[in-house]
Amino acid sequence: MESCNCIEPQGHPDDLLMKYQYLSDFFIALAYFSIPLELIYFVKKSAVFPYRWVLVQFGAFIVLCGATHLINLWTFRIHTKTVEAVMTIAKISTAAVSCVTALMLVHIIPDLLSVKTRELFLKNKAAELDREMGIIRTQEETGRHVRMLTHEIRSTLDRHTILKTTLVELGRTLALEECALWMPTRTGLELQLAYTLRQQNPVGFTVPTQLAVINQVFSTNRAVKISPNCPVARIRPITGKYMPGEVVAVRVPLLHLSNFQINDWPELSTKRYALMVLMLPSDSARQWHAHELDLVEVVADQVAVALSHAAILEESMRAQQQLMEQNVALDLARREAETAIRARNDFLAVMNHEMRTPMHAIIALSSLLQETELTPEQRLMVETILKSSNLLATLINDVLDLSRLEDGSLKLDEGVFNLHTMFREVLNLIKPVASVKKLLIALSLAADVPEVAVGDEKRLMQVLLNIVGNAVKFTKEGSVVISALVAKPESLRDPRTPDFNPVATDDRFYLRVQVKDSGPGINTQDLPKLFTKFVQTQTPANQNGGGGGLGLAICKRFVSLMEGNIWIESEGLGKGCTAVFVVKLGSADRSNGAIAPFVPKPLLNHNQSSFGGLNVLLMDESGVSRTVTKGLLMHLGCDVTTVASNEECLSVVSREHKLIFLDLSVSAADGLEVAVQIRKRFSKRHERPIIVALTASTDRIARESCIRVGMDGFILKPVSVDKMRNVLSELVERRTVFETV
Ligand code: ADP
Repeated sequence: MESCNCIEPQGHPDDLLMKYQYLSDFFIALAYFSIPLELIYFVKKSAVFPYRWVLVQFGAFIVLCGATHLINLWTFRIHTKTVEAVMTIAKISTAAVSCVTALMLVHIIPDLLSVKTRELFLKNKAAELDREMGIIRTQEETGRHVRMLTHEIRSTLDRHTILKTTLVELGRTLALEECALWMPTRTGLELQLAYTLRQQNPVGFTVPTQLAVINQVFSTNRAVKISPNCPVARIRPITGKYMPGEVVAVRVPLLHLSNFQINDWPELSTKRYALMVLMLPSDSARQWHAHELDLVEVVADQVAVALSHAAILEESMRAQQQLMEQNVALDLARREAETAIRARNDFLAVMNHEMRTPMHAIIALSSLLQETELTPEQRLMVETILKSSNLLATLINDVLDLSRLEDGSLKLDEGVFNLHTMFREVLNLIKPVASVKKLLIALSLAADVPEVAVGDEKRLMQVLLNIVGNAVKFTKEGSVVISALVAKPESLRDPRTPDFNPVATDDRFYLRVQVKDSGPGINTQDLPKLFTKFVQTQTPANQNGGGGGLGLAICKRFVSLMEGNIWIESEGLGKGCTAVFVVKLGSADRSNGAIAPFVPKPLLNHNQSSFGGLNVLLMDESGVSRTVTKGLLMHLGCDVTTVASNEECLSVVSREHKLIFLDLSVSAADGLEVAVQIRKRFSKRHERPIIVALTASTDRIARESCIRVGMDGFILKPVSVDKMRNVLSELVERRTVFETV
């Protein structure tokens, strides 16, 4: 920049020099005027220029210099030649330098401007980075605090500890003067002060939920600054300070608790919140920072989650406790049930024994009486006695069977047997009754029903006899048709009985037996009840039928044991009915050696009515029973020797005795010992008498013990003349007869 050296010219004018000066002044003025313009442009363009007023000053100075030179154009005077020359040179130099400067400024300003812009840009960037760094640091700090807090809060799953820890940790981290938690009451209409940092047991403070300040906090998930004088914040002790610290409040959602119905927890049908109030120290200039508010919000969420976890734990612990209590109760119930079952079994065993002994006397004696000369009235009376006693004996057997089936102690006694013979035996047994009633009874066995099968013959026969017996019992006229066939498993599947799922195997087959009668039929609504024990339908046929409603219930259980199914079909009253059962049997030809080889069982020899000369030794401690059995045996022609004790039996027994009946009712062990001694005494098989237990005891173990010690038979009281006749003929022919208990 050129300084102004405008000295007034002195002396005479020289035209040329004057001209040069004139021109130079003009250009200097021009250059001077252009510079402020350029500066104004520069300042305008550059966003940051700190010394604006100096620039204004500088601009004014240059404008004024320029103006001075311009005015000089009109104030030229004549100077000495030397002065004139010096002045001209100075002016020309000034004009040149000022013009060059002005021109250069035109070039430099854009560059300056761009430098300025970049600098500004960098400055902004730096500021932005600073801000971001600040945010990151804040976030990190918040995160660290949240982690610490969360760790503390989550380190317990007890609701009270969670809430207490939250307040303590928040108080410590944020250096709070007070911190409180307001919980909703059961009605939800009020908030109750539940926990505070300073007071141990805050009680009695409640505020209505409908307060504007509470609504405001509950409407957002952010922490909200509230007035230190509002009701939820007025919990600090009054200390005389008059500048309470800033207060924020945040909602704590109570999640999922409605599902857990915790005892002392409000029932949360709608979404509910607790309110957390945090207060900065009084009389301090401290204010809430944004990152502190963030922290409070995150902690509120964490508390909500921890509370819901605690609720789940509380619920599961309660469930566990409940389960344990239930288990104890169940255990008690099981032990009681076991005691009851034992008591029932003991009772049954005793009753069985006690009832069988007098039944033996009644049946044996009345059957003996039946075979004597009687008047028609007497015969009718004796027959009625026999019929009733037989019914009673069946009932005793049924009750015993049922109780064994129910407690699972009844097992099938599987063996090889003749299936066709079994059907014929049932027919033979039922025929006399059917012929009295003039019923047509028919048996049809399909060609594919095998002659020999593996299964529990006695129980299968019991089922069949029961079904056929019912058909004959309830049918007054017409027919009873028994048919049997081998059924394919697929044809037996029925969606109504999903439990019965027949599957084909190589060594087993399904026998389907159907008994169709033309009897009174059954009401369709009664059909499902038939297999329930002690249930009898209200039909006229039933009124004098006898029975206790146990037969079908027992059949169903036997059939289930045989992996089968049983049902009754009837189209209604007066239309007859059809009973069907399916059982799974083994094929005898494919059975392995584990099953005893088949010995054809002879049909009972009813023709041999007398056993004249058969020498029988009878041991029975009970006098009545001894007399009754002796009467039966003598009636059948036997020579009978009676003894009243095991010792007597051992002393009396000789080679002459072909058959020994031992009563095991009183002391089974002694009886078994007698059998062992006799077997020892008679080593030769043909010399040894046949030893048979005759007992009222239905204990399976007793029967098995008899087999174990090598006895030849096991007969259950009561025994009629017919039964004794059959037993004797079987013993004479096969030397063995074992009744199943
Ligand atoms: P119950 O010993 O009384 O015969 P069941 O269990 O054998 O007991 O039979 C139950 C009931 O089912 C009978 O009382 C009878 O009402 C009915 N019932 C069974 N079979 C027939 C049938 N063939 N015809 C008519 N009703 C029958």
